Amino acid sequence: MKKIVLLFFVPFFQLSSQTFLPPIIEWHGKSESLIANPNNPWITSAEKSNFETTPSYDETFDWCKKLCNSSPLLTLVAIGKSLEGRTIYMIIASEEKNITASALKNSNKPLFLAQAGIHSGEIDGKDAGMMLLRDIAFGAKKELVNKVNFLFIPILSVDAHERSSVFNRPNQRGPKNMGWRTNAQNLNLNRDYTKLDTKEIRAVIKVINDYNPWLYMDIHVTDGADYQYDITYDFGSEKSYSPMITKWFSDTFKPAIDTDLKINGHIPGFYLNTANEMDFSKGNISFKGSPRFSNEYGELRHLPSILIENHSLKPYKQRVLGTYILLESTLKILAKEGNLLKQRIETDKAARPYQVPMSWNSEENSTNVDSMQFLAIESKILKSSVTNADYVQWTGKPITTRIANYSHNIPADLIARPKGYWIPASCEDVIERLKLHGIETKTIPFEQEVEVEMYRITDYKFENESHKLQPFEGHIQVTAKTNLEVHKQVFAAGSVYISTDQPLGDLAMLLLEPSSKDSFFSWGFFYSIFQRTEYIEAYVMEPMAKKMLEDSPELKIEFERKKESDKTFANDQNAILTWFYSKTKYYDERYLLYPIGREM
Ligand SMILES: [Zn+2]
Repeated sequence: MKKIVLLFFVPFFQLSSQTFLPPIIEWHGKSESLIANPNNPWITSAEKSNFETTPSYDETFDWCKKLCNSSPLLTLVAIGKSLEGRTIYMIIASEEKNITASALKNSNKPLFLAQAGIHSGEIDGKDAGMMLLRDIAFGAKKELVNKVNFLFIPILSVDAHERSSVFNRPNQRGPKNMGWRTNAQNLNLNRDYTKLDTKEIRAVIKVINDYNPWLYMDIHVTDGADYQYDITYDFGSEKSYSPMITKWFSDTFKPAIDTDLKINGHIPGFYLNTANEMDFSKGNISFKGSPRFSNEYGELRHLPSILIENHSLKPYKQRVLGTYILLESTLKILAKEGNLLKQRIETDKAARPYQVPMSWNSEENSTNVDSMQFLAIESKILKSSVTNADYVQWTGKPITTRIANYSHNIPADLIARPKGYWIPASCEDVIERLKLHGIETKTIPFEQEVEVEMYRITDYKFENESHKLQPFEGHIQVTAKTNLEVHKQVFAAGSVYISTDQPLGDLAMLLLEPSSKDSFFSWGFFYSIFQRTEYIEAYVMEPMAKKMLEDSPELKIEFERKKESDKTFANDQNAILTWFYSKTKYYDERYLLYPIGREM
């Protein structure tokens, strides 16, 4: 056997990206007064390092366990386990005597769920949450949980948090040690909210179903362009799956948190995306993802959800302190306006729109575009001597401008709401995942014949979103054109019926309609319907085709036309015989038939 010795002659450059980041903007704010005194026994590891570093998984939870053991207000609970065997923890901050999931679900107090480290290099939320919980336990912030119950997940992507390096996020100003973006399977947890492949997201969905939070916050750090804002967020627009909830965010939540952040020296703003993927000269696009993302998933299931994207070019200290203010401010506004939010949730949950958009388009091509005041950082476009292309340089000079702002809220691919869906018992994996989402299902004990609409695939492609045949998030995605057919279909015992007359009815539609790009179909859970498994021999089909043509003048005309219009077909015996075969009763009726039925 040959021994292969790998020799690396190419030197790996150990240049620090920090040297190449755009100029730092000096920051001081009132929130700096939140930092614990050096002699405080409960000073956090990040505070002790002056926000140079963030604690490891073990350090984090050793500290959290001690903190929770020392305060009657705090309880550490396990909500799941990663593939590498790490426990995913959640801290409950509550004054209630009974803090079981069902007790907190049924409590009259608003319930706030915040999660940090879904992308574990973006860990601001963990260090902010640790400081805030310490102040709830021992400091002056006890009253924050008088009227609100608080659930906090310090690190969601626990395995990736330990794949830590100083070389992980080149566009980010600290901490020095950053975790990795994807989990141990190299899957992005913030693309997994519909397909539910990962243990981490399954754990969060279970928390959402068991505790039923009133507000869900997912804390990230964004790179991309430079601007003055340090804390940016996205709660969608009022044209959405949850319009009344979004209204609460814009009318009640936003003014309150913006005020608190500004008083403390922070610069809050909406989550930004350059229209030209370089600078803001062509404006901003209010990006709307699909329910594979946490906040879009929340909106679809009428769970008030907010995406936090702190700005990566701001120093770690500034970002953590801003996140502390944001968490604190959210607890305060929930104490004051939680009941109004609850009413809004109930309104959105009760709505049964008769048509549901499978996607949303941007206003980019519209003539009627909004503009917004923009706290920018000046930029220049330079010509590169390396690539010969243009690239952007940020000068560090704050300027105020006005830019175009394109909303992304035009409903598209509208689908009529069926009464319900029939899922055959053979789709065991899909049934399991529908149940994990918390969708109410009814399993039939005996076989049942039902008249349903079913989709026949007429054309299809296996491709990812950049139209390359390569896996995306561990799947080859599928897009298809379909025709609706009416079938009297027999569903075996163990098949499942899902009514769309339930709060998660819209979610069921986006998971089960093949045109939804986050449906199980699009994620490739139905590859096997694309294969034909029974054939007919030429010695049978040739004479049968001859007889069919003799018996049907219409078929003869259709055949001649087909040959005329499709020369490849006309010269392909196999294609011709398959064409005749498809017109016989012997043909596989289930070939290219999406097996889920729509009851209208
Ligand atoms: Zn992120």
